[in-house]
Amino acid sequence: MSIRKLQKSVINLKEKNNVTILAHYYQNIEIQEIADYLGDSLGLSQIAHQKATTRYIIFAGVVFMAETASILNQDKHILVPERQACCPLADFLTPTIIKKFKQEYPSLPVVTYVNTTAAAKAESDVCCTSSNSINIVKKIKEEFEVTKILFGPDNNLAEYVAQNSGVEIVKIPGEGHCYVHSHLTLENIKGSQAAHPQAKVLVHPECIKEVREYADFVGSTAGMYNFVKENRDIYEEYIIGTEKGLLSRLSVDFPNNRFYLPSEKLVCMDMKKNELQNIKAILKHLDAEDYDKLKQFEIKVPADIAERALRPIKKMLEYSKKS
Ligand code: SF4
Repeated sequence: MSIRKLQKSVINLKEKNNVTILAHYYQNIEIQEIADYLGDSLGLSQIAHQKATTRYIIFAGVVFMAETASILNQDKHILVPERQACCPLADFLTPTIIKKFKQEYPSLPVVTYVNTTAAAKAESDVCCTSSNSINIVKKIKEEFEVTKILFGPDNNLAEYVAQNSGVEIVKIPGEGHCYVHSHLTLENIKGSQAAHPQAKVLVHPECIKEVREYADFVGSTAGMYNFVKENRDIYEEYIIGTEKGLLSRLSVDFPNNRFYLPSEKLVCMDMKKNELQNIKAILKHLDAEDYDKLKQFEIKVPADIAERALRPIKKMLEYSKKS
């Protein structure tokens, strides 16, 4: 079956069965095209909470994102196309590691990036995203009256936050990194720039220090998208230092601009495990009211963990509102 026909049958089944599909910017473009909402991880979970009125939500991303959606939407069924689509960065930080660091530094607050499992969030004082991390760390420093915090799991984001907040950071676990962003080198960027000297360089804070310091703009996936949206009439070309899926989105939404990927390694193989066929399989089970088969796709965070994990997420949202 062609991609177009497959997309059409997914849309028909989705509408017939009243399902919302959420897709992360790093999904393949054919999945982005059939989604009701596109966004980054936290943005999508909030959409699931505030805008998606359907009982069933398909979350095309990685498992920790679906967990966050489940924490925020305990009354809804969050389904993932592929349970093996995990985030290796999130897997660096287990609840056991957090407890060990808390014992070592009992007075320091724990700030975790949203790219963590629900069980790790449950051990945290506050969560943060790549876009609000600096602000959140400054706020938690004031509230806890400390000069140092525990932060994990991404080492590069931790360094970026420490540099820009003036708060000392103890990295937990100390070796956490995203295999996609951390592989981007300064040579990759300079190589791309040699071919496209007018292009603005946009990179994600999960990139290494040399890359971040060289870039014209450092920001989250949504932040990079908005940078292009706001500057598209001023700058024509952009080097995009994040996962390839964002470049696909930008190329569709801003056809008069040009976008370049500085390295072919900017592909998250975990995000790409989701396929249209799996989304169709979920919808067919729903259509046949085969709820037993549907269970294999459902991500449900147990109520006790969800309750504890909700606190640091809510605190982050409250801090963000006040700023
Ligand atoms: S791009 Fe990196 S942080 Fe994002 S899901 Fe993939 S491995 Fe995790």
